[in-house]
Amino acid sequence: MSDAFLSIRGLRKEFGSFVAVEEVNIDIARGEFLTFLGPSGSGKSTTLYALAGFQQPTSGDILLEGRSVLPTPSHKRNIGMVFQRYTLFPHLTVAENVAFPLRVRRLPDARVKARVKEMLALVRLDGFGDRLPPALSGGQQQRVALARALAYDPPVLLMDEPLSALDKKLREEIQIEIKRIHNDTGVTILYVTHDQEEALRLSDRIALFNSGRIEQIGSGETLYRNPASRFVAGFIGNSN
Ligand code: ADP
Ligand code: MG
Repeated sequence: MSDAFLSIRGLRKEFGSFVAVEEVNIDIARGEFLTFLGPSGSGKSTTLYALAGFQQPTSGDILLEGRSVLPTPSHKRNIGMVFQRYTLFPHLTVAENVAFPLRVRRLPDARVKARVKEMLALVRLDGFGDRLPPALSGGQQQRVALARALAYDPPVLLMDEPLSALDKKLREEIQIEIKRIHNDTGVTILYVTHDQEEALRLSDRIALFNSGRIEQIGSGETLYRNPASRFVAGFIGNSN
């Protein structure tokens, strides 16, 4: 037993006869920023989706504060999520997008309004509440998605390549924002990227995936200085 905040135990996911993820074991501390790094197809999203409840794992367990989340349906897991794109409701205003998870939880109107204002300030979009998402830039849309994901103060935030559709300058700008928001809110973040520079910049620890397994978990510094395998050395050392 461990008293980790979030614990992924012996996770395995098969699609037919194909094994997408196997023997994934991770203990995550409260407030940690952990990144799943690895090449395309290495099992990062599949692991995240098991946590999100989009897909049931073939075997293994995921414990949040000691209790399995697997019996709980996705929308009741209290886990915030931000994905690469198409995450906002295009026909709802920015304010209504951010309010959505609060309305689902039946918060009174006055509290919804106050919280939306607070969240838009957090992502530096004060004054954008009445706009529609298609009128915003890609970076602004991802900020709204972030505000919505954090609106009900979830203990865990999952982000699957949230910046990969953005250009480099915008990506770096929003990386700084994500880092600041992590510091300000203390939310535990599980972040997926295939970009080692992004992983090194953002993370407390990195779990490096290769062919459905974790090759090494540690700080960026550890993976860089003491790679456990040639794969790790190649992936972390190789800047693009
Ligand atoms: P990553 O996010 O690291 O790019 P994924 O977790 O999406 O990788 O995918 C891991 C492997 O599982 C890939 O080979 C992918 O093709 C396969 N896979 C993912 N989802 C499905 C699915 N629904 N059906 C069949 N194979 C899948
Ligand atoms: Mg993926």
